[in-house]
Amino acid sequence: AKAAGRNRILFFNYEMKEAFEKQHMMEQGLREAIKHNHFNLVYQPQFNLKTGRTESLEALLRWRHPEWGMISPAEFIPVAEESGYIKEIGDWVLETAIREIKSIHQEYVHISAVAINVSALQLREAYFVHRLKTLLKKYQVNPGLIEIEITESIFIEGGEEVLETLKEIRGMGISIALDDFGTGYSSLNYLRILPINRVKIDRSFVQKMENDTRVQAIIKSVIDLSHNLGFNIVAEGVETQKQLLLLKSMNADVIQGFYGSKPLNWTQLHEFLKEPQTL
Ligand code: C2E
Ligand code: CA
Ligand code: CA
Ligand code: CA
Repeated sequence: AKAAGRNRILFFNYEMKEAFEKQHMMEQGLREAIKHNHFNLVYQPQFNLKTGRTESLEALLRWRHPEWGMISPAEFIPVAEESGYIKEIGDWVLETAIREIKSIHQEYVHISAVAINVSALQLREAYFVHRLKTLLKKYQVNPGLIEIEITESIFIEGGEEVLETLKEIRGMGISIALDDFGTGYSSLNYLRILPINRVKIDRSFVQKMENDTRVQAIIKSVIDLSHNLGFNIVAEGVETQKQLLLLKSMNADVIQGFYGSKPLNWTQLHEFLKEPQTL
């Protein structure tokens, strides 16, 4: 038993060392990626359930490392947040999405919003609002074309200041969506205080809804609650027609998910928009 205990300790140390080295490697990789611009944005169409048409897109970050290949944002965003690189990366995302929505909207006027994911650290930067204003001016973009996606995690520290920043952003005419709704805590309180226009129901609910009446009841209630508060509802991660039909019967406003379209690179996006598919 003693030997096993000792081995376990060794094992843990080894795992920790591995994790540490992986983190360290990824941080170095991110530094290079920033320097050589190994990032790009892909855009996932969102479908209005009334018209069946795409009116908005979510910008999603992609990183292709020259040797490691594609790395999922679910993996590198947390490292970018811990190392502080998220500020530079987030700045790049903001500028690229604003520049690209300008060009998309000019060619396809019915695309009237791009949703941009913003992390807590970015929002807490003193210059964030100033930077937004500067970029909108630089690219002559109407603030109505921009939506900022936040999650409840932005409130873990410094909630008051973040709230002020969000109010300022709303005041500029930019819309704000609460992402991944239902996965965090104290959600009802956030619905009460946040200056949002939209709620995005997390895909973990949508993907369990087909055969689970309890999940259906939760989703229906979140939709009604959001509507009563004057918010739009986006259902994320819709993969099947059955999910789509259920969400439609429950009065959801917008769906996003592989059933409608996967996230598209620039070329694919133009092909999609030239001949927009309806649901
Ligand atoms: P998210 O904001 O919840 O984005 C939605 C994720 O769900 C995307 O993953 C998208 O590709 C995926 N998805 C969309 N439809 C479906 C579906 O029908 N089924 C399934 N299984 N998945 C679907 P992605 O692009 O890998 O991004 C993962 C997360 O990384 C995002 O989750 C977001 O939290 C973060 N992220 C992505 N881009 C950015 C960014 O520019 N800035 C920041 N701060 N975070 C980002
Ligand atoms: Ca999002
Ligand atoms: Ca989400
Ligand atoms: Ca998420």
